[in-house]
Amino acid sequence: MAPSIPHGSTEMKNEIRHWDLHHHWHAFTQMAEYEPLVIARAEGCRLFDLDGRSYLDGASSMWCNVHGHNHPRINAAIREQLDRVAHSTALGMGCETTARLAKRLTDLAPGNLEHVFFSSDGSSAIEVALKMAFQYWKQCDRPQPEKTKFIALGEAYHGDTLGSASVGGIPRFHALFKPLLFDVLRAPMPTARLDSQAVSARPAGLKGSPLSSAELAEDFAAGTAGLSVAKSALEEMEGLLEQHHDRVAAVVIEPIVQCAAGMVMHPPGYLRSLRELTQKYRVLLITDEVAVGFGRTGTMFACQQENVVPDLLCLGKGLTGGYLPLAATLASGEIFRAFLGTHLSGRALHHGHTFSGNPLGCAAALASLDLFDEEQTLANLPPKIARLGEHLHLLADHPHVAATRQRGFIGALELTPDKALGLPYPVEQRRAWQVCRAALELGVWLRPLGDVLYVMPPLAISLEELDTILVALRQAIDTVTLRV
Ligand SMILES: *Cc1c(COP(=O)(O)O)cnc(C)c1O
Repeated sequence: MAPSIPHGSTEMKNEIRHWDLHHHWHAFTQMAEYEPLVIARAEGCRLFDLDGRSYLDGASSMWCNVHGHNHPRINAAIREQLDRVAHSTALGMGCETTARLAKRLTDLAPGNLEHVFFSSDGSSAIEVALKMAFQYWKQCDRPQPEKTKFIALGEAYHGDTLGSASVGGIPRFHALFKPLLFDVLRAPMPTARLDSQAVSARPAGLKGSPLSSAELAEDFAAGTAGLSVAKSALEEMEGLLEQHHDRVAAVVIEPIVQCAAGMVMHPPGYLRSLRELTQKYRVLLITDEVAVGFGRTGTMFACQQENVVPDLLCLGKGLTGGYLPLAATLASGEIFRAFLGTHLSGRALHHGHTFSGNPLGCAAALASLDLFDEEQTLANLPPKIARLGEHLHLLADHPHVAATRQRGFIGALELTPDKALGLPYPVEQRRAWQVCRAALELGVWLRPLGDVLYVMPPLAISLEELDTILVALRQAIDTVTLRV
């Protein structure tokens, strides 16, 4: 760094933007087209760039921020921990703060998920769950060592490391790396979508089905036989289980909402029915709550929406309130016991990370859980969920909005050049991306998922700030859909 350039000067800011562009290789970003947006600080739901311009954080800093940024309670907890110990290993020893968090999470989690394995990111939490399931069947009371395969859903996203990517099913992310990934049995997503990708994911015979997710949900709740995509998805799932259960270790699923797939929302009842199927066929259920855990769907964990207790539950993103990299894999007592034996038995879990259970992250997580109580985060959510719903309801009438959908505090929509046909804009036009750029000009940060626009702010956002985001979104859609 050139010491002659004064801190905070225009020259220095330009230097930093240059370093951000040339030296920081950004995740999922085409660096040849990247225009640096560099955040200098944040407060509540607002991010401030180097020039002091502020942006409302409409995507919770990639789905992880819960109570807002720079919260004094979480900051203080991290500082206090820092003055004691920043890190000690989880290999053969523990740390006070980590033990407290393990206890707290197991108290909070449904059912008998009594054991917590910590890692540093959501992808690793999934890797750990896959390995636990795999090793479990070799060591459990009635071993079935040939149970080595996994069933995952179409368009699933479980992370970007090779194991977690193997269970992923989004061609745009995963196809290139196929030769490096292990084979997975693929069950269909239990929903119809409007965009082109999803047409191919629909079960045969339902191509072009005009059912909306609301209609599907009704269909499903009413148990109507026949043309329900969700029902046929469950039938396909059962078919796979029936045929392969002897070889299947676990089904892995993002419960309720498949976020990375484009905020794909499962109809009510699917998760519950899936749980029953896994029990019927003696296959483990891994729920990936990395994105939907910590209140996003309205309950602390998404599986609680349907009174489901999985065998393994993966948490990440919101675990520390979105402050520090920490993830967790929760396991039932039944699974944990299969790993017990003497040191000679070789039954211990063969996995570990240097920063497993990092105390700074655990301190942030404990403070975040305290805030859920102190600020009544979940109790305060229903009016915000309702307000998001009102905005989406109005947006659904927009001449260029093909469909809107919502689950808990996630709202999503898809654009169309022609409402009557409901088909998407040509991909190369990047309309959703353009909308996000236009929203940025209006002081709101959003990020599209392909052609899908979504709003997923920190749970702590105020109704006024939520209104600001949705007003900006509508204005940005107006601007971008007027362009030829
Ligand atoms: C983000 C995400 C992951 C991966 O978490 P990382 O911390 O990015 O590795 C896994 N599963 C789901 C559902 C996610 O949304």
